[in-house]
Amino acid sequence: MRRFERKQNIFRNKDALGESYQPDQIEERDEEIEEYMDALQPVVDGWEPNNIFLYGNTGVGKTAVTDYLLDRLQDDVADYDDVNLSVISLNCKTLNSSYQVAVELVNKLRPAGGEISSTGYPQQTVFKKLYEELEAIGGTILIVLDEVDSIGDRDELLYELPRARANNNLDSAKVGVIGISNDFKFREQLDPRVQDTLCERELQFPPYDAPELENILESRAEIAIAEDAVEQGVLNFCAALAARDSGSARQALDLLRLAGEIAENREADLIERDHVEAARSRLEQERVEEGMRELTTHGRLALLAVISKAAKEETPCRTREIYEEYITLCDSSGTDSLAQRSVHNHLSDLRMLGILSAYENRSGSRGNYYSYELDVPFTSAIEAMSDVLRLDSEIETIREIASMNNVA
Ligand code: ADP
Ligand code: MG
Repeated sequence: MRRFERKQNIFRNKDALGESYQPDQIEERDEEIEEYMDALQPVVDGWEPNNIFLYGNTGVGKTAVTDYLLDRLQDDVADYDDVNLSVISLNCKTLNSSYQVAVELVNKLRPAGGEISSTGYPQQTVFKKLYEELEAIGGTILIVLDEVDSIGDRDELLYELPRARANNNLDSAKVGVIGISNDFKFREQLDPRVQDTLCERELQFPPYDAPELENILESRAEIAIAEDAVEQGVLNFCAALAARDSGSARQALDLLRLAGEIAENREADLIERDHVEAARSRLEQERVEEGMRELTTHGRLALLAVISKAAKEETPCRTREIYEEYITLCDSSGTDSLAQRSVHNHLSDLRMLGILSAYENRSGSRGNYYSYELDVPFTSAIEAMSDVLRLDSEIETIREIASMNNVA
C-alpha cells in the first residue's frame, strides 16, 4: 500500500511562492527601479560606481529588485568590452560586525581550501586581505550587503570600503557598495562620515498598498497555482490583510502559500476565503509564539496577566492593575515576583514586539500613566502561552472566563 501520494491539484509550482524564488518580473516598482537604474548608470558608462543605500520594511521588494536589476545590469554591460563587472552579494543577517562581514567576503572570493578563519586576525589585516582579493578581480565590483543593519554600530567596513581607492588600498578595482537595510534607524545611527559615503544615493522602498499587493499576488499565482484553483476574491483578501498589517509582499505570499496548503490538506479543489482565514490565524500565532520564545519567564507572566485581564474584558488596563494580576500569577506558579517598575519594562518590551499596544493617559498632577491591551487576537495569544508556560489550570480558568464573556 502506498503511504505517500502526490497532491498537485492546488499548486502548479509551489516553489514560486517560496523564499528563494527569484521573479522574472517586478510589479509596481517602476519609480524605484528608475531611480535605482540611475544610481547604477556610472557602471555602464565605465566610471566609478556610486555607493547606494536602500532601505524599507521587510518584504517590500528590496532584495528582489536588487537581484533583478543586477542580473539585467550584468547582461547588458557584457556588450561593452571595456566594462568588466563583478557582483558579490552577501546576506549579513547572521553576521554582527564589520569584521565578520569582511571575513565572509574574503572567503567568498578565495578558492575552496583558501578560506581564512573567522577569528584571530586583526581587523585591518582582514581588510587588507579583502583588498588583495578585490584587486585580483579588478574592474568594476559591486558589493551587495543585504540586511546590513545586523552589524549594528560595528560599521568600520562601511567607512573603509567606499574609501579604499582614495586611500590607495585599491588601484585597479573600482568598488561600489550597495547596503540594504530593513531598519531606517540604522542609517541615522551610522557615523556621519559613513553616512556621507555609503549613502551617496539613497533609495527608499515604501510599504505596498492593497492594489499593489494584489497585482504582485496575481502575477505570482499565475506561475504557482493551478488554473481555477483560487476562488474569486481570495487574492484580493490576502492583499487586503497584508496591506492592513505590514504592506509586505512576503506576508501576502506567505498567506497565499499557507492557504493553499490548508486547502490541499482539506482536500478542497480550490483555495477559499476560509483557508485564508485559517492561514492568517496560524501565521499570527507563529509570530506571537516567536516573540514569546524570546521572553523571559517574567515577560511571559506579565503577558499572561494582560491576557487574563482581556478575558475579563478589562483591557485597556493600567500598569498597576496588570501588576496585581501578575502577582497573583506569580503566587500560583511559585515564582518570586519582580517590582512594579520591572514589570512595566516587560510591558514596554511586549509593546515593542507588537504583542501589546499602549495608550498614554494624562492624569493631571499625578503625571502620565500607561494602559495596555493585546495587539494580537486573544486566541492566538492564549494558545501561544499554553505552549510556553506550565500553568495549565490558570490558563484553563482564563479560557473559561473568556468564553463566558464571549472574548474570542
Ligand atoms: P525585502 O528584501 O524588502 O525584505 P523581498 O525582495 O525579499 O523583500 O520580497 C519579499 C517577497 O515578495 C519575495 O518573494 C519577492 O519575490 C516578492 N516581491 C516583493 N516585491 C515584489 C514585486 N514588486 N514584484 C514581484 N514580486 C515581489
Ligand atoms: Mg531582503
